[in-house]
Amino acid sequence: VGRHQVCITFDLDAVSGWVARGMTTATPVSRGEFAVVGTRRILALLGRRGVPSTWFIPGHTIESFPSLCAEVRDAGHEIAHHGWSHVSPAMLSPGEEVRELDRGCEAIIRLTGRSPLGYRSPAWDLSPRSVELLLERGFIYDSSMMADDYAPYRARRGDQVPVDAPMVFGEETDLIEVPVSWSLDDYPVFEYLRMPNLVLPGLRSASDVLANWLDDFRYLRTRLDWGVITYTFHPSVIGRGHRMLALEHLLETLERDGANFVTVEQVAREAAQRLCIGGGSD
Ligand SMILES: [Zn+2]
Repeated sequence: VGRHQVCITFDLDAVSGWVARGMTTATPVSRGEFAVVGTRRILALLGRRGVPSTWFIPGHTIESFPSLCAEVRDAGHEIAHHGWSHVSPAMLSPGEEVRELDRGCEAIIRLTGRSPLGYRSPAWDLSPRSVELLLERGFIYDSSMMADDYAPYRARRGDQVPVDAPMVFGEETDLIEVPVSWSLDDYPVFEYLRMPNLVLPGLRSASDVLANWLDDFRYLRTRLDWGVITYTFHPSVIGRGHRMLALEHLLETLERDGANFVTVEQVAREAAQRLCIGGGSD
């Protein structure tokens, strides 16, 4: 057990992210399909360096790219839930959210033979019901929220956030939140996206972004006794040549500086012990 944990995570949205935005013409679909090329490059890199990782895969991707998802599974990486379609639960009715969760679980069980233990919401938002639904289905962690950076914490249910009165905090649950951040995500910095009401400029220099990513680990390593940093990548984004070089450099430098690479499931289990969840220590 290392003191400075690093979770390398991939959201294998492939075509589902474009479908969820209603962009189903040939070129957006082909941008999603580039995830196949990116995934194979990433699996080769992780395999060469012996780095474990966690892949959040929508059911749509599992059913549209079954052999690619089998390659991820066969390489020994953790596979976790990322919706069935790539629609945020915050946008779904209660019934739709249940159907999405269950359909995504069924796809993962067919792929891996076991129920997923981890969830990451598409587009990083949860409905007021999500935490309860995850607990009911035996999930041990979520990785979609941002109330801490290096410390996993207990997700709450039942927060009340009226616009005209102070917020009322709900009850803490046993669901471990392994927090994320847009600043540790490849999508906003790299992906160029043009939609009717939005232009995401992206296309930042990979070496500038790499410096930020490394400094966030350096802060953890030099200022904190224990913690986890969670990087989020998308194979269709990080899979481009210059970004793959940055990812390679990131993994090399983290390893040299003493990072302990773990899956999100492993870090969630360790965090549960630290937070005295699930019967204490062993
Ligand atoms: Zn996603």
